[in-house]
Amino acid sequence: MNNNNHSSKKVVTRFAPSPSGRLHLGHAYTALFAWQLAKRSNGKFILRIEDIDIGRCNAQFEKEIFEDLEWLGIEWEEPVMRQSERAHAYKDALDNLLEKQLIYQCFCTRMEITQEISNSISAPHKNHNQYKIYPGTCRNLSISQRRRKILSGSPFAWRLNFKKALKHAGDIYWFDRLKGSQKVQSENVGDIVIARKDIGTSYHLAVTIDDAAQGISVINRGEDLFDATHIHRLLQKLLGLKTPEWHHSPLLKDEFGKRLAKREGAHTLRELRLKGVTKNEIWRLAIQNLATNSAKT
Ligand code: GLU
Repeated sequence: MNNNNHSSKKVVTRFAPSPSGRLHLGHAYTALFAWQLAKRSNGKFILRIEDIDIGRCNAQFEKEIFEDLEWLGIEWEEPVMRQSERAHAYKDALDNLLEKQLIYQCFCTRMEITQEISNSISAPHKNHNQYKIYPGTCRNLSISQRRRKILSGSPFAWRLNFKKALKHAGDIYWFDRLKGSQKVQSENVGDIVIARKDIGTSYHLAVTIDDAAQGISVINRGEDLFDATHIHRLLQKLLGLKTPEWHHSPLLKDEFGKRLAKREGAHTLRELRLKGVTKNEIWRLAIQNLATNSAKT
């Protein structure tokens, strides 16, 4: 796939933070990158609040996100979409996947899954990823076993039968602006949760539906989400949604080489602002951080 002409198209892009902590320098980089992408192409910059995880998100953090972005000089389209108000759209998508028989109820608890994985992997040279892959316990439950569990009130999540779904979709590809064309693979993915027991949706489902609903043409985010894009591309195909391009940027790190996380104070935008760092210095600090990281590796 050739992508050399992407700079001439109007880009609709977004910044999609979760208000579960304070924004840090890494977020500023992602947001400013997206903002410039939109500006340069005379396109649109969208801010979306990803607050499906109601237990971890709060209004104070959301307020601070607006303040931080305003301070950076970023302007976004109004009204701002909040995922907590989009349950109906996620439910419709789930119904669609159920109709296609590509999802199933999973009654397992986290502990049962860990137990099952450690029972099934006994070789000393284990594939690290296998620790995280759902072993498929509930995939093969019979109709009566399933019915019994539901009747007894066992809570359940919905999982995507990944291999079946991929077979249904056929060969599919996606394009990363830095790494080029990628083929969606089923290895090391497993049957991911598509709707959690507690919130009735998942990051994967919500982000896919909303990026499509908002007409995002370039999904800009950190490279920690690179692998998740295989899942999102598959969901787009299954749900008949348009395919955007992606730009996964390298992650900013702290002085110990660890990726910046929301809980650490030193790099939050708020903290930097209080220390007297100006908004014009933020971009330079981010670029400097990336250059230092790549010099170390
Ligand atoms: N809401 C996610 C976060 O705050 C970002 C998701 C995305 O950009 O796709 O980490």
